[in-house]
Amino acid sequence: MRVQIAQRGQVYSKAASKGPNPFETAQRQYDIAAQFLSIDPSVSTILRDVQRILTVNFPVHMDDGSIRLFTGYRVQHNLHRGPTKGGIRYHPGVTLDEVKALAMWMTWKCAIFNLPFGGAKGGVVVDPKRLSQIELEHLTRRFTSELSILIGPESDIPAPDMGTNAQTMAWMMDTYSMHKGYSVPAVVTGKPLSIGGSQGRDEATGRGVMIVTMEALKHLGLAADTTTVAVQGFGNVGSNSARLLAEQGCKIVAVSDVSGALYAPKGINVADLTRYTQEHGTIEGFPHADRITNDQLLTLPVTVLVPAAMENQITLENAEDIQARIITEGANGPTTPEADDVLNEKGIFMIPDVLANAGGVTVSYFEWVQDLQHFFWTEEEINERLHKIMRHSFHRVLAAREMHSVDMRLAAYILAVQTVADASNARSIYP
Ligand code: GLU
Repeated sequence: MRVQIAQRGQVYSKAASKGPNPFETAQRQYDIAAQFLSIDPSVSTILRDVQRILTVNFPVHMDDGSIRLFTGYRVQHNLHRGPTKGGIRYHPGVTLDEVKALAMWMTWKCAIFNLPFGGAKGGVVVDPKRLSQIELEHLTRRFTSELSILIGPESDIPAPDMGTNAQTMAWMMDTYSMHKGYSVPAVVTGKPLSIGGSQGRDEATGRGVMIVTMEALKHLGLAADTTTVAVQGFGNVGSNSARLLAEQGCKIVAVSDVSGALYAPKGINVADLTRYTQEHGTIEGFPHADRITNDQLLTLPVTVLVPAAMENQITLENAEDIQARIITEGANGPTTPEADDVLNEKGIFMIPDVLANAGGVTVSYFEWVQDLQHFFWTEEEINERLHKIMRHSFHRVLAAREMHSVDMRLAAYILAVQTVADASNARSIYP
């Protein structure tokens, strides 16, 4: 496992995410839905902000004997529907506002999928690629210890996100458990199978992306074998989305990572590319495709575009040039609200992040339930349940879109915000 991370680690760009402040974007998206639903302004004041913020500056022993101070965050957006849930991101561009946005988006995801969680997110300002395994372990254990006043199987359950993986979750689970004096597998999800992880969790976000994309193709009367796909990002979400869509008969014509993009109109063999990235840590230099830029990838004439990298990728600068028929948002927040308007005008079918990438947290929910019950399901059971809940949620959002004559993102938000507002109203204000 340790060797694997070192080999598979991606190269991260140092820049903070470009474009608008993600939390302002999240609030604008919320405001549109709240206005549509005429949410009581006093409830809205609560829902459009986050409930808890923990900022920690913590020291880590580095391999050269020095001590380095790192900054990390954990944000809980809303606790009305249950414990909070959401990943931990390691990235040099992490900011508090990014983590706040990601926490709010988790709340809506969980509500649309009727998972009994509120949203949370965590992040550490670090480029994990520049740390050794030992340094990463020290950082993760100390960060977990700092978060221990918030996290727990009944209060707040972290999971992997960009820059973290099953090994990170194993260290978190172990640190938390050592302090308790017994194993607490349900404190995190996305763990290795050997310590209470779930079958299917690793690929779950990509599998969810595939399922909703296939539903969208069906809805639009398009066949898989004439579908071309461009995937931005080749991390966990991008690579699994590409592989699973290819298995359905779609042709993956372009992929990218921070080194740039590859384009092969006749199709890229995803298995070959995955093997190549495992060896080289990047898609750069893969021989069977042409080099293009990341911006060119976004505007290719494809059936499906899957942004599976960072926030703020589809903006006013490139929205007009996007030619895809369907956009499936594998990443969180890849499209700005202004770009959304342009895409809607162009008639592009948008599967918004809170719907498209919720396969990960859905299987995290399955993992948490299995851990709490000490009873584990087969991969077939997991995938079948995931398929059912993804399809169901896709069609609920589609029905809301038709009923209210709105776009897919607003339809998803209408369902999510109403669900959380109902919970807030039912619980009322204490004292
Ligand atoms: N980090 C993932 C997300 O953004 C998964 C969160 C989880 O499983 O709790 O949805």
